[in-house]
Amino acid sequence: MRRIVQKSILTGLLSVVASLGLSFSIVPFLGGQVAGAGLFMTIFCPLAISIPASALHFTQSEKVRRAEAAAKEALQKLADAYEALHLQSRTDGLTGVLTRSAFLEALNVASQKGASGALLFLDLDHFKTINDRYGHATGDEALRRTGQILARYQSQSDFSGRLGGEEFGLFQNGLTFDEMLARCEEVREDVARIVLKASSGSQVRISASIGALYCPSGFDPSNSLKTADDNLYRAKALGRNRVVA
Ligand code: GH3
Ligand code: MG
Ligand code: MG
Repeated sequence: MRRIVQKSILTGLLSVVASLGLSFSIVPFLGGQVAGAGLFMTIFCPLAISIPASALHFTQSEKVRRAEAAAKEALQKLADAYEALHLQSRTDGLTGVLTRSAFLEALNVASQKGASGALLFLDLDHFKTINDRYGHATGDEALRRTGQILARYQSQSDFSGRLGGEEFGLFQNGLTFDEMLARCEEVREDVARIVLKASSGSQVRISASIGALYCPSGFDPSNSLKTADDNLYRAKALGRNRVVA
């Protein structure tokens, strides 16, 4: 408000200066004199007209400026909410890794970008028995902890996802075949180190079988996933808690 009053008064004074300048150059040129009532009107008229007019103008401008700022803020909030919602829709609520569809989408994108690397298909062993023996909550906790392990390997080009009930996928960009084997062992051992506490108080250990596949540049996402799944099936058949690549 103070700024509006100050700016309006300044405009009023500038109008007076302009009015005086014009009067003192034009009136004598026409043979007249700027004095008395004429001088009063030269000063009073611009003040009386420009101060209220500019106060109105500046008030409206201020309203427009505030409305623009509020609209900008609302737009930013909307964009943030959309981003959060988008991320939420791509994230598995229980485990924090990508959902199945988001994982498959990321795998397609990686393939299209010419990425090469390791594809891991992980399945928890005898998970049904864990649920049956120690309760669904313990099973959920096992899934959460497995998700935490896999999420550690996520980066701009690496991603993990929950592909089904107790099945997970991990894509590690740029790994060689030997590095992939080492990563598989690392993940398998990390899962085997998980110790859960059941509601009965008993300590529960879990294990995972991993089917892995080295994906060269230009790999086919669905064929690769199928082959990794076949390797997982072999790991299960060989006795579980192991890696087949
Ligand atoms: P295998 O070693 O051959 O993989 O056997 P498994 O028991 O792990 O596999 P199976 O497919 O027989 O059982 C998977 C179980 O996972 C059955 C299902 O009830 C359970 N499951 C699926 N989703 C969830 C979940 O979100 N929470 C919990 N607690 N259990 C789940
Ligand atoms: Mg299983
Ligand atoms: Mg399974």
